[in-house]
Amino acid sequence: MDCPSNAVNGQTIHGVPLPNELWTHAIGYLSSKQDLARICLVSSLFNAIAIPFLYHTVDIRITKKEEWIKQQRFLINLSSPRFSDLVTRFDASISCIYRRRHGRPHLCDANDKDLGRAIKAFKNLKTLRFRCDLCQASGRHLYLLNDLPTRTLKEFGFSCNCTNARNTDNSIFGSNSLPTAPHMQTVTSLSLHCSDSWLIGANGTIHNVLQRNDALPLLKLWCYEEDHLLGSVGFPDEFLISRPITRFYYKGELWTFEERIKYCAKLDCLLIDHRGTEFIMLVIRHPGAFANLKHLGVLCLPSCNEDSVLEELGPLTNLKLLNTIEIERTIVDEGSLAYIMGPHDVFNPSQSLLQRLKEEHHSLCRLNVVNVFHTYAYLQGSTLWEWRPDGTWAGRAIPDLSRWEVLNGGLDSV
Ligand SMILES: [Zn+2]
Ligand SMILES: [Zn+2]
Repeated sequence: MDCPSNAVNGQTIHGVPLPNELWTHAIGYLSSKQDLARICLVSSLFNAIAIPFLYHTVDIRITKKEEWIKQQRFLINLSSPRFSDLVTRFDASISCIYRRRHGRPHLCDANDKDLGRAIKAFKNLKTLRFRCDLCQASGRHLYLLNDLPTRTLKEFGFSCNCTNARNTDNSIFGSNSLPTAPHMQTVTSLSLHCSDSWLIGANGTIHNVLQRNDALPLLKLWCYEEDHLLGSVGFPDEFLISRPITRFYYKGELWTFEERIKYCAKLDCLLIDHRGTEFIMLVIRHPGAFANLKHLGVLCLPSCNEDSVLEELGPLTNLKLLNTIEIERTIVDEGSLAYIMGPHDVFNPSQSLLQRLKEEHHSLCRLNVVNVFHTYAYLQGSTLWEWRPDGTWAGRAIPDLSRWEVLNGGLDSV
C-alpha cells in the first residue's frame, strides 16, 4: 500500500486536515499486517492510530530456527505493557526445531519460556489458541495453569503432546487443574487435545474436578477428545448437563455414548468422529433423545448410490429441527493397501438427490460434504450445499474447517 506523503501530518493529498476519528476509521479497514506496519512508519499520529490494529490479533508460527530467532525479539516486545494490553487474540503454533537431528542443542524449553512470558502479559486476551509440537518433556506450559492475568478469555484451544507425565506424584501439576484456573472462569468455547494430567488436580480424578462449581461454569461449546494413550476418561456426562453446553464435539468410543444419551437432550449441535453409521442406529433406538438437534455431523456413508443415501439418512426425519447435516467420505486411493475395501468414488450429490432429501427432511437447508483421500490423508475441500429461496440447491467450495471451527459457527461465516 502507498501512503501519501501529505498524510504525514494527518492531511489528505490536497492538504485538508482530517479528524483523527476518520483516519482511525479508514486505517481500521486494513486487514494486511504489512500495510499496517508501513502505516506505522508514516508519522507519529499514524503510528498511534495503527498500533492497536496491528497488535489486536497476533499469529506466531515457529517451526524453524530462523523463525524462532526472528520471533524471539517480537515476543519480548509483546511482553511490554505498550503492546501486551492491546492483544485480544493470540494464535501460536510451535514445533521442535531439531526433532530429527539427534545431538543438536534443543531450544524447546527456551522457546516455551519466551512464549509463556508473552502470554502472561496479556491482560485483555479473549482468544488463546496454542498448538504445541515440541519434543517430549515435563513441566512445560505451566503458566497456563494459574499465571494468566486475563479475565476476559472466551475461547481457549490447547493442543499439546509434549507433556505426557502423569500427575501421580503431584510434583508437576500440584493441586492445579486447567478447568479450575481463574482465567478459565469466563471461557465459553473450549478445545483440548492434551494429556488428561492437565485436567486433574492433586489427589483428584477428572470427575472430581469437573464436579466443582468453579470448573468452566460458562462453557457453551466443547471439543472433547478422549485420551486413548493415557487411559480413557470416559464420557463427561454430568458435566455436559450441568453447564450451558449446547454445541459438542465428541471424539471417543461410541459404545459408551448410548448409555449416556439422556445427557444430550439440550444439544443443538453434535459432532461425532466415528466411521460407520452407528449414530443413525442410535437415532432409531432413541428418537426423542436428540429432539433439539439442528446440526449433525459427521456422518460417513457406506455408498454414494443416491437411493442408498436416502435410505441411510431416512431415520433422521425424526429430528424435526435438523437444518444442517455434514457428510464425510474417506476415499481409498488405488495406491493404498485398503484399496480392495473401497470406497473409491467421491460423493457429489445431484440436484435430484438434494430435492428428494428436502422433501423428506423439511427443515434441512444445509448439507456439507467433505471428501477425504485416505492414502495422503488430505482433505479435498468441502462443498457446502445451501437451500435457496427459489427452491433449488446451490453448492460452493469452502475451505477445510476443523471440528472446533465448525462448532464455533464456521459454516455460518464461510
Ligand atoms: Zn525439542
Ligand atoms: Zn507441549
